[in-house]
Amino acid sequence: SSWWRSVEPAPKDPILGVTEAFLADPSPDKVNVGVGAYRDDNGKPVVLQCVREAERRIAGSLNMEYLPMGGSVKMVEETLKLAYGENSEFIKDKRIAAVQSLSGTGACRLFADFQKRFHPDSQIYIPVPTWANHHNIWRDAHVTQRTFHYYHPETKGLDFAALMDDIKNAPNGSFLLLHACAHNPTGVDPSEEQWKEISYQIKVKGHFPFFDMAYQGFASGDPERDAKAIRIFLKDGHLLGIAQSYAKNMGLYGQRVGCLSVLCEDEKQAVAVKISTILGDPELKKLWLEEVKVMADRIIGMRTALRDNLEKLGSPLSWEHITNQIGMFCYSGLTPEQVDCLTNEFHIYMTRNGRISMAGVTTGNVGYLANAIHEVAK
Ligand code: PMP
Repeated sequence: SSWWRSVEPAPKDPILGVTEAFLADPSPDKVNVGVGAYRDDNGKPVVLQCVREAERRIAGSLNMEYLPMGGSVKMVEETLKLAYGENSEFIKDKRIAAVQSLSGTGACRLFADFQKRFHPDSQIYIPVPTWANHHNIWRDAHVTQRTFHYYHPETKGLDFAALMDDIKNAPNGSFLLLHACAHNPTGVDPSEEQWKEISYQIKVKGHFPFFDMAYQGFASGDPERDAKAIRIFLKDGHLLGIAQSYAKNMGLYGQRVGCLSVLCEDEKQAVAVKISTILGDPELKKLWLEEVKVMADRIIGMRTALRDNLEKLGSPLSWEHITNQIGMFCYSGLTPEQVDCLTNEFHIYMTRNGRISMAGVTTGNVGYLANAIHEVAK
């Protein structure tokens, strides 16, 4: 009996299920009002002109290197301005810690994990109703969930009184999840006056507001205006968190793939967009496959060369593992001291665990590297 026998298929995403059913329907009259993605007046998905233009401008000019740990610095910088304000003192004072994330979902997930790690006994208060994934995200992060009143079915508006009561009754210092604007699924937002009262009460209680802002610009058409709730909280001196997404407001729903998905006029966008361009085009895909093979073959060739060189030098040690291992790295077995020696005496740099990135080995340096390894491993 294998250990994964108890693994059940994940429940289908209800919204994607809607789309599937839609696609399967042969009726010429069908309408898909399930998926939360913008369509034009003909029901067609839209790629923004600014995105096309950005693509054009960056085309061919980017390398595919790793971004820093926090993602694209420039993109994060611009994104913060949208939420906190162009001239935010908090940005100037560098009071905001921010990283690129896998779209809004990834931002929520990162926050939930962060909350669990640094405040393990805290709970999250989530509005009723909310975007279904909020429940999944905080559940998977093992944060206890509570709910607060939000929607009033009779008025089809905000249940403001009950919401305020719930905020008051939550234990001091609770975490509250708030939709910054364009609440999903209800489309009901507090008024500016109500936001002020909510902010006040949250401050009194010492709660921590976490804003999910997946739709900045979609509520009013003006991203600046849609940030007003957040600005009220900032003015009131809260510490807060914000999840931002470019899925909706830049029409970049799928760009999360292969790259962190919050994006703008920058690297990240390019990388994600390029990937779909490449894989969607048979010719480019063929070329890509060829190029992948060239890369892998070169590394394999360097493995053989490194091993041959070491053996030719008469090393009594076994270097079979160099060619047995696969992928980019060779876990050489060199000790930290030997690595230090390589670095100090031979200017060869690698992590002290002895890991050699074979990608850095070339026809030009393989002899030198082999000799150095032979010397320090003697
Ligand atoms: N929060 C809310 C409220 C949403 O509706 C969505 C998208 N449906 C997201 C976050 C995350 O979307 P994405 O991960 O595509 O940015």
